[in-house]
Amino acid sequence: MKTEDMQSAVVLLGTKGGPAIRPGGPMPTSTLVQMGGLTLLVDAGLGVARAIGAAGLPLTALDAVLITHLHSDHVLELGPLLHTAWTGGLQHEIPIFGPPGIETYWQGFLGAMEYDIALREEDEGRPPFHELFSIGHLSDMRPIDLEGVLVSALRNDHPPVEHSFALKLEHGGDTLALSGDTAPMPRMIAFARDADLLVHEAMLPEGVQAIVERMGTGDNRLLEHILRSHSPADEVGRIAAGAGVKALALNHLIPSGDPDITEAHWRAAVEPSYGGPLHVGRDGMVIAFGTGA
Ligand SMILES: [Zn+2]
Ligand SMILES: [Zn+2]
Repeated sequence: MKTEDMQSAVVLLGTKGGPAIRPGGPMPTSTLVQMGGLTLLVDAGLGVARAIGAAGLPLTALDAVLITHLHSDHVLELGPLLHTAWTGGLQHEIPIFGPPGIETYWQGFLGAMEYDIALREEDEGRPPFHELFSIGHLSDMRPIDLEGVLVSALRNDHPPVEHSFALKLEHGGDTLALSGDTAPMPRMIAFARDADLLVHEAMLPEGVQAIVERMGTGDNRLLEHILRSHSPADEVGRIAAGAGVKALALNHLIPSGDPDITEAHWRAAVEPSYGGPLHVGRDGMVIAFGTGA
């Protein structure tokens, strides 16, 4: 529900890259954005519903959801999140925008929960579930106007995923850029130009071998996937400097939750190329940006 204009801010709800979780460790990717009086969710990885609550917001505060791509660490909890908002008293429509294929996820979720949804509509008088949510596609050709917040998408470089997007949100002179999952991409520099905050994924290649060994998948495919489709932290620093962003936040960290990798390692990788304010993402971190920050 649109409220009077508030300070633009992001809450990094989940900051780890990849779908696996470990006891006491960080959770997969989701980011809350408050901008132009709206509360927007970018990605819905496992743990998102609990994390929104921990940030002090009811699930019914959501105004729209944007899904950057269909890897499970970005979409696994989308259905459970919105179903729980519905049972929590959601009355307004929440549009969902994602890559082509998001409708298949959504239809599958509706199918999986068909019995419960029909039962609660009939037995508890809940509003019709289907009418509360609409599905739209992100496109790099056509920005979306969300009640005055302009959302632009840029196809990023996340092989072998065909439809994967970086996002830019603009309102009242405030600009937020989010890389999504991507290898370093020169066109990100123009896309994120002069942004108040760039939230960019990052990996430390020297730490990746150790997590792949721990997974024990038996061959090199996971290692090769990670190295070719994600961004080394030093490259992220160069992109942020090239774009002239006013602040940089690292998220979707690979590795994450590894006691051998500390905030100092991330800073050491980024700071030689980028001298501006740097936030090394942690679950629950709040970062204000734009006018008034
Ligand atoms: Zn991911
Ligand atoms: Zn991905």
